[in-house]
Amino acid sequence: MNFKDYIREVPDFPTPGISFKDITPLLEDAEAFRKAGEALMDFVKDLRVDKVVGIESRGFFYAPILAEKLGVGFVPARKPGKLPRKTQRQTYDLEYGSDALEIHAESITPGDRVLIHDDVLATGGTARAICDLVTSLGGEVVQCNFLIELEFLGGRQKLGDVPLRALVSY
Ligand code: 5GP
Repeated sequence: MNFKDYIREVPDFPTPGISFKDITPLLEDAEAFRKAGEALMDFVKDLRVDKVVGIESRGFFYAPILAEKLGVGFVPARKPGKLPRKTQRQTYDLEYGSDALEIHAESITPGDRVLIHDDVLATGGTARAICDLVTSLGGEVVQCNFLIELEFLGGRQKLGDVPLRALVSY
């Protein structure tokens, strides 16, 4: 299956000059949705993983599926102010603007092997922030896993030695 057939490029969204990759057609097609999940799972099935961290909000579509298939817990990384207990926060630069993400501090146990999933790797600021967050809590990032890598933005360089897999790249 060519997953790019299910990703729509939307010019000038959310701001002029950005060509946004819209993954909702992939989610809306039952077969494409399932096959993309299986393909993401192929990237991780031989890894030893203790937790899957998904990034709000488009990382929440597949991260829980990967966690369930791996038989491990799902940890949401959320926008500031959404999580009720003690959190660890990291700020980061986006392709458009800047933001921060938090996870519950006790969601990562020191020594945990952590898989990170998001829909898109763009400049890499978000993924780098989550890697730093997990590491600061004593976790080890075993892979950053994406539906889409925007290669022309060079996000991969920001992740250094962290193994990175993506289903499709542009
Ligand atoms: P980065 O921090 O790598 O620059 O941006 C990645 C984050 O922004 C991801 O959480 C992703 O959801 C969002 N993002 C950036 N560009 C796109 C895009 O073209 N399509 C989608 N679906 N998300 C994007």
